[in-house]
Amino acid sequence: DTSHVRQSVTVLGATGSIGTSTLDVLARHPERYRVHALTACTRREALRDQCLTHCPAVAVLAHEHDAAWLRDELGRAGLATEVRSGEGALQDVAGASEVDVVMAAIVGAAGLLPTLAAVRAGKRVLLANKEALVMSGALFMDEVERHGAVLLPIDSEHNAIYQCLPPGHRGGLGRFGVSQLLLTASGGPFRGWDAVRLQAVTPEQACAHPNWAMGRKISVDSATLMNKGLELIEACWLFDARPEQIQVVVHPQSVIHSMVAYSDGSVIAQLGNPDMRTPIAYGLAWPERIAAGVEHLDLFSVARLDFEAPDETAFPCLRLAREAMAAGGTAPALLNAANEVAVEAFLAGGVGFTQIPDVIEAVMHTCDVKAADELDVILAEDARARRVAVRHLAR
Ligand code: NAD
Ligand code: MG
Repeated sequence: DTSHVRQSVTVLGATGSIGTSTLDVLARHPERYRVHALTACTRREALRDQCLTHCPAVAVLAHEHDAAWLRDELGRAGLATEVRSGEGALQDVAGASEVDVVMAAIVGAAGLLPTLAAVRAGKRVLLANKEALVMSGALFMDEVERHGAVLLPIDSEHNAIYQCLPPGHRGGLGRFGVSQLLLTASGGPFRGWDAVRLQAVTPEQACAHPNWAMGRKISVDSATLMNKGLELIEACWLFDARPEQIQVVVHPQSVIHSMVAYSDGSVIAQLGNPDMRTPIAYGLAWPERIAAGVEHLDLFSVARLDFEAPDETAFPCLRLAREAMAAGGTAPALLNAANEVAVEAFLAGGVGFTQIPDVIEAVMHTCDVKAADELDVILAEDARARRVAVRHLAR
């Protein structure tokens, strides 16, 4: 019996792209992990199926009418899973004393409070939900420090950089002789397109990423390059880097997941097939390594690696993100909130693809930047940016 050494895992956003990949890795290692809680927003059938497979102690849905349905389904199947609903329940399963590891894979600002609950409970936090860190960067990292949480980046680029840095690298890149972080970007499905051609882009085109299968919101972010902008901000906080220490490199094959350049001229890269189960397995087992179900690279079939500079004229979102990071305070939270509203409107057919940066820029010009050292201020500014964005869209 090895149950006493098994790690107990909560998966926030279990039904999403990262969530299902996480459950795939967990299921490969039943001797190491058991599932404490699975959470979803509205996809109750998908969550039911996951519960039947992984038998969590707790399942959480956003709305009580969905939870009541799931309670009934699982009860009839003879499962002892407790089914709960609402935001408080998300924070409870993230911070519960019996939990060792929390996968933070809710998309968007909705993930902030549950992810912070895991941090404040000192968990090993596997961070996929980049929006949470973008919104609350300084506060989030302070809480990690204060509560002794172990923060492992799951975003493939940040996971790659983490792997290319020396162990115990927290506290400034200079100490370790790092001269630059090289953040790779696929360039998205519209790499090489000009602004005129981009005007007619549809949600379906934007969600058809050439290398990665992901949720719809991050797929649109990848197409606008806002994903790289959010990742630039994410990297600044995770690695204590200044924006000018980060270079974005478009690398269409998505085989190099990012690199670290050192003062002696060395550049260390992490390579792999584009499959999120690799960084997920890394985060789960660190500092050990476990099988992820991913083949290592066949370099002969990769054959070549290409690199180019990003086109910030056709894709202004990267510039907007850099400006938000430079402005500091609540500016990244404003950027993120405006982007979430604009992307949702684009996916609903309400605005054109090239209007996404316009909405964000309008919000950034309208809302003044405040200090971001209190959660209440960050949440209030997030709400304000959303109202301004909606008003701008209605014009
Ligand atoms: P997804 O849309 O596939 O899944 C999102 C999950 O969050 C679902 O389980 C959904 O039920 C849940 N959710 C959504 N809104 C919610 C709400 N209001 N309350 C509670 N739960 C809610 O998204 P994804 O692609 O898995 O991405 C998840 C996060 O990971 C995002 O922040 C994304 O940027 C990040 N990420 C994803 C990838 C990837 O390859 N998919 C790579 C790097 C980072
Ligand atoms: Mg990424």
